[in-house]
Amino acid sequence: MFHFSRAATARCRPLLLRTFTNSTTMGKGFTPAARVSKFEKDVWSIFTPLAAETKAINLGQGYMNFGPPEAVQNAAKEAIETVESNQYSHPKGRLRLRNAIAASYEPEYNRKLNPETEILVTAGANEAMYATFAGYLDEGAEVICIEPFFDQYISNITMNGGKPVFVPLRAPDSAKTSTISSHEWKLDIDELRSKVTDKTKMIVINTPHNPVGKVFDEEELLAIGKVAEDNDLIILSDEVYDRLYYPPLKKFPRIATLGNLWERTLTVCSGGKSFAATGWRVGWLIGPEHLVKYSFAAQTRVVFSVNSPCQEAVAAGLEASLTQPIFQDQVAAYLKKREILAKVFDELELPYTVPEGAYYILVNTDKIDIPKDYQFPEELDSRGADFKTCYWLTKEIGVAAIPPSEFYSKEHWYLAKDFARFAFCKTDDVLLQAVERLRGLKQYIKK
Ligand code: GLN
Repeated sequence: MFHFSRAATARCRPLLLRTFTNSTTMGKGFTPAARVSKFEKDVWSIFTPLAAETKAINLGQGYMNFGPPEAVQNAAKEAIETVESNQYSHPKGRLRLRNAIAASYEPEYNRKLNPETEILVTAGANEAMYATFAGYLDEGAEVICIEPFFDQYISNITMNGGKPVFVPLRAPDSAKTSTISSHEWKLDIDELRSKVTDKTKMIVINTPHNPVGKVFDEEELLAIGKVAEDNDLIILSDEVYDRLYYPPLKKFPRIATLGNLWERTLTVCSGGKSFAATGWRVGWLIGPEHLVKYSFAAQTRVVFSVNSPCQEAVAAGLEASLTQPIFQDQVAAYLKKREILAKVFDELELPYTVPEGAYYILVNTDKIDIPKDYQFPEELDSRGADFKTCYWLTKEIGVAAIPPSEFYSKEHWYLAKDFARFAFCKTDDVLLQAVERLRGLKQYIKK
């Protein structure tokens, strides 16, 4: 059983929440650039250390507590032992990996992919997006982001002079009282269209969606695509969870494969998510030459080239997946994990969103009755209300979750106030331990 630690929850205890800039010792000459000076501590740097410090089971940050498939690990070791694969790679990515990406994705796209011009290996999916914003945004260019959005998008956009513009995904009212499918979270296309201005350059979408788990269907993607076509916008499609979608879905719809949308779409993928290697930072972009080339232009000047041995290993994984059911087995394993974790929320009668893809469960926490006199660190007062719920869950129940207001603009934080995101990319035994601890919530559930 998890041991409660209320005594340790002193209000004076500094949590890791300060912005980076409030040091009084800083000389004028050390004044930071405006592009970073307002950054708050990100949610990952708050909850991952908090989980470690409180010995909570960390279902917060989405990373695995298990390693890559054996073939992939062995390829990494082999690459380290090979002189050539420890040296710089071509800035576009190692040819073996670009060829493997082409072979793996051609059937998905139902078209030939040119590894020289239509594929770019990046330092994780995050840098693929950063390079694309750097490659396409001039000062003041607007980028439409769907809320909730993955938090990095916003800083990646603003650091490149762009301005994020928000449009929400909305859950039906029934989500407050019953468990729903992630498909019931909807984007209002007229609302999306209303956000387009003369300055709009790009729409960012994310499917399978983090944190909702929604997999956008073809009709929804075509509607978004029509807005992009009518206004001559680029679509940046974050598909890092593309190998993780669950039955009854048989196929993962990709916006780049619909109508003529290939011409205006850059798709972002992730070796880390596909092969349980989030720390390797190997991702890639797929798209037409006329779009990939400016992401490439920026990326060469940011990272020059990407981690070589891990590229070899990801290539080996993609090659193996052509003849072995690596992704199919992974989906089966994740489906079981989803079941293990979801069951406890059923038991507790907490409504949640059943994800169609990715590895997060968004739980409605409204019925959790946190003791009124509970002492939270003052720093949490400036964050969304869900930060307090997740802090309490981490410290008192012993399971860390992520407050999704981090994925909303400040004016929409309230939309996330009753949600917590739990990641299930953990071994079954750890999930079962988390379930055991979460059962401790029973006494706090309002009837
Ligand atoms: N994509 C992962 C998540 O949402 C990890 C994010 C991160 O650590 N920056 O949890």
